[in-house]
Amino acid sequence: MAVPHAAFLATSQEYKRMMPGRIIGVSVDSSGKPALRMAMQTREQHIRRDKATSNICTAQALLANMAAMYAVYHGPEGLKTIAQRVHGLAGAFSVGLKKLGTAEVQGLPFFDTVKVKCADAHAIADAAYKSEINLRVVDAKTITVSFDETTTLEDVDELFKVFSGGKPVPFTTASLAPEVKNVIPSGLTRESPYLTHPIFNTYHTEHELLRYMHRLQSKDLSLCHSMIPLGSCTMKLNATSEMMPVTFPNFTDIHPFAPTEQSQGYQEMFDDLGNLLCTITGFDSFSLQPNAGAAGEYAGLMVIRAYHKARGDHHRDVCIIPVSAHGTNPASAAMCGMKIVAVGTDAKGNINVEELRKAAEANRDNLSALMVTYPSTHGVYEEGIDEICKIIHDNGGQVYMDGANMNAQVGLTSPGFIGADVCHLNLHKTFCIPHGGGGPGMGPIGVKKHLAPYLPSHPVVATGGIPAPDQSQPLGTISAAPWGSALILPISYTYIAMMGSKGLTDASKIAILNANYMAKRLENYYPILFRGVNGTVAHEFIVDLRGVKNTAGIEPEDVAKRLMDYGFHAPTMSWPVPGTLMIEPTESESKAELDRFCDALISIREEIAEIEKGKADIMNNVLKGAPHPPSLLMGNAWTKPYSREDAAFPASWLRVAKFWPSTGRVDNVYGDRNLVCTLLPASQVVEEQAAATA
Ligand SMILES: *Cc1c(COP(=O)(O)O)cnc(C)c1O
Repeated sequence: MAVPHAAFLATSQEYKRMMPGRIIGVSVDSSGKPALRMAMQTREQHIRRDKATSNICTAQALLANMAAMYAVYHGPEGLKTIAQRVHGLAGAFSVGLKKLGTAEVQGLPFFDTVKVKCADAHAIADAAYKSEINLRVVDAKTITVSFDETTTLEDVDELFKVFSGGKPVPFTTASLAPEVKNVIPSGLTRESPYLTHPIFNTYHTEHELLRYMHRLQSKDLSLCHSMIPLGSCTMKLNATSEMMPVTFPNFTDIHPFAPTEQSQGYQEMFDDLGNLLCTITGFDSFSLQPNAGAAGEYAGLMVIRAYHKARGDHHRDVCIIPVSAHGTNPASAAMCGMKIVAVGTDAKGNINVEELRKAAEANRDNLSALMVTYPSTHGVYEEGIDEICKIIHDNGGQVYMDGANMNAQVGLTSPGFIGADVCHLNLHKTFCIPHGGGGPGMGPIGVKKHLAPYLPSHPVVATGGIPAPDQSQPLGTISAAPWGSALILPISYTYIAMMGSKGLTDASKIAILNANYMAKRLENYYPILFRGVNGTVAHEFIVDLRGVKNTAGIEPEDVAKRLMDYGFHAPTMSWPVPGTLMIEPTESESKAELDRFCDALISIREEIAEIEKGKADIMNNVLKGAPHPPSLLMGNAWTKPYSREDAAFPASWLRVAKFWPSTGRVDNVYGDRNLVCTLLPASQVVEEQAAATA
């Protein structure tokens, strides 16, 4: 049902720098070897804000990988065979229909979908339904039938029975084979070679594919190895019991447009989940349609727009956004055609309330919305939040709350209580959907009663707010599927159901406790940038590295890369404040793991002190040289002023289990200047394979 979906977008060289989202490009590492990295990141939302190429942050990388592996496994020949068989089944269906004479095939040429004119489309669809086949009724006399590689000859036999109106069918699908013709016009037939890269021509047995995928996976540092402290990303436990339902066939094997009476289980879950999310957030209605936080932002702003329009306020198009906001906020507001007014923060990282008041009053005639994150992106419960919401409301605006930091609110407070009118939740952050590597995501939005009528619907399957509002005036459609990536909802649903209200509240408390524990342990070594009035932080905190830039020439990237030598993923780097690291431990990590991470950062501080004291070279030291891959450590020549042991084993736990980085420091500037998106040259792949199997 509405499986998570990824789409691929291709363009010519000319437009490659305008592509939205994330592009993987080839660069070189510190040893001059080719290395893959995300290209042109600096062009993305956080720098370009409202001029970003898109508002997409969490994409669907995991799903894109699944689709890519399909091509890797089948290769060019396999894919063609599959396509030919699918086309053959559609062809056999069309030949058989002609013989039956009960319906007329239209819409030639076809590939996998045959359009059929018949006397009574609903009667045919009803007969098919009795045979457990769902057909698409286009209008009273038109039906379309689609075939794919899971369709069997017996399925097509069954269709003939449906179309023969109960009369015996004088042939089998198999017997039609000699009469089936390829109807794809010659002008559309591909003649040039495709998927010629060795990757698509090597892994055609299950063992080979398994090993290939495992080899790729072993280059990835994941939660299997250590905590991932990415602030704002909330990398929390994806419990096995939460993940299991995603594989249940009753969840996976259903089409998003299947009649709702065939998806009663899903419907029950949508209703329950919508109600649970209302309770958690203090809202009156939820839409499960948006596919990620940024899609939720867009949907929520469109809801606000529809609300203003319904009141005759067509002109309200100003959106106030603090400079500390996540880059998706201005990018989403720009997508909605809004005029963005930026508001600064004070020395403590809080929104400058007086500046906000001035901006709201100056724009009171055209104010549409404020986008605000709570706790703030600086990891602090902003004291002025009540007043901020009031100022916006007093000036005719609506409050959009960015709910990415909901992990610090659940059970303790709520967006509805604070005064927000609409808010998205990142189910892939706060509610346990795994999003390592970038998705899949789900970004449902919750709204107060007055906005509920405008929640999105869908032209094929009518949906709206859950619970349903008294009346509905939906703004339109936000996603291709009526309930977004519904297949991954069981993860969040299971999490909420298993935790219960006490468990969820405890989780928030422990997440906050963990962040404060780490901040306290680290404060003697690094300045902690922002804190609330009690000297505490919320669920995440910022370590300031701007000082060591002056004393030791150390940049956040040096610390981030050095953490790889210690077996850790870096925290969020230089966001929301340049020159800093933002750490979010979540409630999922044990004290032992929190301590291990603090120990690594403290040990790195000692390494920085060596530079400050002049004992280590300012340009050539363990931090600047990090990460240290085996190819460098075990090369014949070792020219660094520090030992191999200091490079690779700076902490005792690394003797027990060491995660080996697979490349040295990747050259960012080179990668952006020379944007090459093609895979490694074939010779290199062969080399890599030889190395891996040796
Ligand atoms: C992650 C995040 C977003 C965007 O959510 P996606 O699901 O990645 O689209 C927006 N705001 C904040 C503060 C975030 O952390």
